[in-house]
Amino acid sequence: MPACRLCGGIYPRENFIHGIGPRKDVCVRCGVEHKFVEAEEVPILYDPSTTTARMTLLARRYSPFLWVILLWSAWVTVLSGIAVWGLASAVLLGLTTLALIPWFVLSSAAYQAKLARLSADYARPPGH
Ligand SMILES: [Zn+2]
Repeated sequence: MPACRLCGGIYPRENFIHGIGPRKDVCVRCGVEHKFVEAEEVPILYDPSTTTARMTLLARRYSPFLWVILLWSAWVTVLSGIAVWGLASAVLLGLTTLALIPWFVLSSAAYQAKLARLSADYARPPGH
């Protein structure tokens, strides 16, 4: 992946503006900040609401893994010493952990569809 020569950020090719001279190897954010392009010309530079929606979608996708790690940590530190509740909660946590993997695989298509709805269309220009 190329690096922006102004900010040094490394992004996929679609996050760069096109052109020669001062516009060469400039990311869309630096392109808008340095007035090489207008914000309307670069749909890949998302507005704040789209950015929030994308981050929310990403958080909903991966947060169950953080919750499971957190719950296992709580189980190890607190619940493992309690006789009946420790075993019951371990079984429940184990089933949740095992169910998480098929859920992650089966929901990937829905996640990709929702992310595509929040992504800008990008047509690679000829020669790139
Ligand atoms: Zn940049």
